[in-house]
Amino acid sequence: MSWNATVLTLYPEMFPGPLGVSLAGRALGEGLWALETVQIRDFATDKHRSVDDTPAGGGAGMVMRADVLAAAVDDVLQRRPEAPMLAMTPRGTTLTQTLVRDLATGPGLSVLCGRFEGIDERLFEARPIIPVSIGDYVLSGGETAAITLLDACIRLLPGVMGAPSSGEEESFEADLLEYPHYTRPYEWEGRTIPEVLRSGDHAKIAAWRKARAEADTRSRRPDLMERHGDAPRQSPSGARQENEG
Ligand code: SAM
Repeated sequence: MSWNATVLTLYPEMFPGPLGVSLAGRALGEGLWALETVQIRDFATDKHRSVDDTPAGGGAGMVMRADVLAAAVDDVLQRRPEAPMLAMTPRGTTLTQTLVRDLATGPGLSVLCGRFEGIDERLFEARPIIPVSIGDYVLSGGETAAITLLDACIRLLPGVMGAPSSGEEESFEADLLEYPHYTRPYEWEGRTIPEVLRSGDHAKIAAWRKARAEADTRSRRPDLMERHGDAPRQSPSGARQENEG
């Protein structure tokens, strides 16, 4: 049985979009995952097929109506009760690789894409919906956020990535950024590849990569380093403490 994604959107034509090419596109063609889009507007009840209305309390923009969204959500929940229902919103908890891994090992997911000023809050109170943000910035709609979420999950599905280990050493897997990568040519614009990576000594290479992952995480993402179990260390000038090997 494939991993199934159901996307509730006002713009079904945005899917599969970038998910139709490369790794995800090939996996879609091979049936490793499946995609269904649901046009939210099909659940509107008036002759104009309205899905939004003016914000209570005043202010700019429009708000997506709870009644119309609930009808769409209920339809999906009834057909796919096993799949968690997510909604993309900057007010959600931030997407992490841990959540991505959880979702990728499940039966799939359903995801509601917001537009306009967002979604009537009562929908979140009345239905089992997990609000998820992809980061601290505002997009014009939830579709690109949903594509990001789906892409992160799909690449972890069995059979999607070439080498099964390629997902295991990556950034965020141990609350660390990944070590840096290099490839040929050996010298480029006067810069060479660190010698240790040409040594063939696997233990030394592993130690160098671990040290660089920790150093880069400490300087670029002290918040992650704290989670990794090491207080951020910086010089008084704020300069980066690197282990260039
Ligand atoms: N007024 C909302 C706010 O300030 O929180 C922003 C609404 S945004 C213009 C429209 C839609 O884009 C949202 O309902 C959501 O679906 C999506 N969106 C925007 N930024 C997002 C983010 N960082 N993560 C997930 N979804 C996002």
